[in-house]
Amino acid sequence: MKFDTKVVRSGISPDPTTGAIVPPIYQSATYVLDEIGKDKGFDYTRASNPTRQVLENNLAALDGAKHGICFSSGMSAVDSVIKLLNSGDHIVCSDDVYGGVSRLFNDLLVNYDLTFTYVNSSNSKEVEDAILDNTKLIWIETPTNPLLKVTDLAAVGKIATRHNILYGVDATFSTPALLRPIEFGADIVMHSTTKYLSGHNQIIGGALITNSDELAEKIRFIQKTVGAVPSPFDCWLTLMGIKTLSLRMKKHCENGMHVAEFLESHSQIERVAYPGLESHPQHDIAKEQMDGFSSMISMELKGGIPAGISLMNSLELCYLAESLGAVETMITHPATMTHADVPKEERLARGLTDGLVRLSVGIEDKEDIIKDLDNALKKIK
Ligand code: PLP
Repeated sequence: MKFDTKVVRSGISPDPTTGAIVPPIYQSATYVLDEIGKDKGFDYTRASNPTRQVLENNLAALDGAKHGICFSSGMSAVDSVIKLLNSGDHIVCSDDVYGGVSRLFNDLLVNYDLTFTYVNSSNSKEVEDAILDNTKLIWIETPTNPLLKVTDLAAVGKIATRHNILYGVDATFSTPALLRPIEFGADIVMHSTTKYLSGHNQIIGGALITNSDELAEKIRFIQKTVGAVPSPFDCWLTLMGIKTLSLRMKKHCENGMHVAEFLESHSQIERVAYPGLESHPQHDIAKEQMDGFSSMISMELKGGIPAGISLMNSLELCYLAESLGAVETMITHPATMTHADVPKEERLARGLTDGLVRLSVGIEDKEDIIKDLDNALKKIK
């Protein structure tokens, strides 16, 4: 089955009792047993739920994998990966990750005797050099939030295999429509389904995808035990969103490229990061491993922080909002919003300056988005 068919059909079949073309929302906490030890495949919704199961099977197919396991947020999915480890273990992690991931690792998990080394994973040698005897996980985000750094997934995959280390990839910014990390050797793929996958700013959700039966069993045990599961309604909304994933991502990519080119040629912009631009340092690898460049852009304005604030406050069509990957164009100030909990020195060392602005380009008409940006840029004093 080709990808465009998979998004609409994989894991989904008409409801056997009614023929309903759309999977029902099984809003039930528990299931009646026929007799002791005999159920119909479900006993309690924290452990499994028919609507969630349809979503999990659909998501697994999109990444070309056997197993999908859904969570109540992207963060609980990341947290569940870490629960595969033991205290005393060491993790090598991309240095430019979503601020919530840094907060989980640096403010919470360090208290459980886990240690983290952050590396510029765009340089795979840095990943290998950071490996210690007790390294048990390599955690990559690509493209990264918010600097859009791209990692050569196959190169890191070889390192992980050579050292026998679990290899996880947060592919939230690309979605399986553009990047399928399992093809490059990842053991686990993580998605915040809150973003492009559901696509409409309606839910918070996450998913872990794996081809390994052993990992899937362990992750399902964690899912059931911790209980960070999405509601059946949220699973259903995500499924409805995924049906148009291919169409949306094509438009996101087209608009993203258009807006990035406009910004790069604008006299008030200092620098633009978008993997689709030839000026992007990892453009070639992005072109090789991705089927499109998605629609996340970060930029630095010539007038620094005051210019950034002026831009963000002057936009009318583009929303000033925390999230990304939805149909509406959204603009964010990482230093005060998504990455506010990353200590300032660490932010600056990462290149995440106070003047950085992140744009999630939606699927509105690209000329309207550019007009709004252009008008707001003109208002900068
Ligand atoms: N990973 C990335 C790259 C993200 O951008 C986010 C959220 O912005 C997350 C993980 C966390 O996902 P959620 O907000 O669904 O918990």
